[in-house]
Parts: sequence; C-alpha cells; structure tokens
Amino acid sequence: MTNDRLNLIYDKTHGYCHLCHKKLAFINYGIYGAKGAWHIEHSKAKANGGTDHLNNLYAACIACNLEKGVLHTMTIRRRNNVTSAPLNKVKKDKIRSNNSVGGGFIGFIISAALGGPPLAIAACALIGAKIGYDNPVKK
Ligand SMILES: [Zn+2]
Repeated sequence: MTNDRLNLIYDKTHGYCHLCHKKLAFINYGIYGAKGAWHIEHSKAKANGGTDHLNNLYAACIACNLEKGVLHTMTIRRRNNVTSAPLNKVKKDKIRSNNSVGGGFIGFIISAALGGPPLAIAACALIGAKIGYDNPVKK
C-alpha cells in the first residue's frame, strides 16, 4: 500500500472511521492499540466478492474493522447509529456554504417579516448563516 493510496482512502471520509465516525490518526495506520489507529476496510468484504478498487475501500478504526468481518457495512453503521460514511472535506465545505446562504436567507426573511430595524435584520441573517455553516447535514 503506497502512502498516496492511503491518503486517498483516508481523505474520502476526511479522516473519520466510515463505520462509527470516530476520528482517526493518519500516522497510526495499522498500529494496533495506538490512538486513532485504523485499517483499510473493504466495504463489501473480499469474501463476498468485494474488490480492491478505491470505491470499495474505506478508512475504519481497527475495532470496527474487526467487528465487521464479512458483515454488511449498513449493518455496522446501524449499530453505531450512523447512516452514511462521513463526508470528505470538499463535500462538507460545499454543503456548509450552501447552508450558509440558505440560513442567511431564512434569517433575513424572518426578521424582515417581523419588521425589525435594518441592523437586527442583518444580525438575524448572520445568525442564520452561522447555524447553516455549523450543521453540514446532507440534503
Ligand atoms: Zn469505527
């Protein structure tokens, strides 16, 4: 496994376990017992016909990887109360900026409808944008 390939896989989920969303430490790849230690996990297990193609490989903490075995990815994610892999940085930033615009607009409409002074309207727009930014939920 090359460092480039490790980086690609790690960045796919922005350095978080794709099964439990725990933060991983890139330098502790494969170091069992180290903080944030991780493995490359086959989303579809090799035993079930999964490939070594990048779209089947995800970063997972060692505990999750061992627990998963040949089980289905969704089975483990459900156990951890998550439904999808963590977003990579590019996707997260994109959703954040979309949310900021949407949140700012909603704040503007609410305060304008209430007939607030211009400064209050601007403040509400900013608060809406901040809330949108802090909650990068996939739509
Ligand atoms: Zn995990």
